[in-house]
Amino acid sequence: MKKERYLKEAVYSILFPRHCPICDEIVSLGTDICETCEKKLPYITEPSCKKCGKQLEEEEREYCSDCNRKVHAFKQGKAVFSYKKEMKLSMYRFKYANRREYASFYAKAAAEQYGEWMKRRGIEVIIPIPMYGGKKRKRGYNQAETFAKSLGKEMKIPVDARLLKRVKNTIPQKELNDTQRKDNLKRAFQLRTNIVEYSKILLVDDIYTTGSTMDAAAWCLRNAGVEDIYVLSICIGEGY
Ligand SMILES: [Zn+2]
Ligand SMILES: [Zn+2]
Repeated sequence: MKKERYLKEAVYSILFPRHCPICDEIVSLGTDICETCEKKLPYITEPSCKKCGKQLEEEEREYCSDCNRKVHAFKQGKAVFSYKKEMKLSMYRFKYANRREYASFYAKAAAEQYGEWMKRRGIEVIIPIPMYGGKKRKRGYNQAETFAKSLGKEMKIPVDARLLKRVKNTIPQKELNDTQRKDNLKRAFQLRTNIVEYSKILLVDDIYTTGSTMDAAAWCLRNAGVEDIYVLSICIGEGY
């Protein structure tokens, strides 16, 4: 049985070779990243912001400057990597160049780093930040959903990609200032049902910058009575 499975996997990987999420070269059988690239990964380590999970430089700080001046709608957030050079390229290919296969590596890394954290918080469901319908049709997939599904499989936590709906095609957040970002996201999300059955939700996205997208989605859920909302992203911008 085991041999059969191994053979199946071997044939599959010859037909569909896996690419390294960092350099995009084909990796050897049974691995999902090359050894040299693994060493380059900018994992988030301690100290990190107690609210959003951003990497901090100084031990004595509790929160990043962003969280010091802003109230977030979620309880706590975590991220796997800092959004640095290597990860920027990786995220780009994951998002725009159909490298959906990277998701399993990101999910394994997330489960390894934050599996315990998710269990302790009793996460019942993973919800990906949805993409606007037209945009998804054009691109063919929503990278946040792809990541959520891999993470759900890894953690054995159900994924609900239907509950939240993006009703506005928002302007890319990076082109806007803080106030414009808020306006841009106001009423960007809606729920597909009136009653939400979950009480502990993990929202996931690919990149966290200021947290305004996560906040907008979290407010939408809080308006429906959900109190415990946590967030997790593959990458997070660097803190100050
Ligand atoms: Zn590599
Ligand atoms: Zn923070």
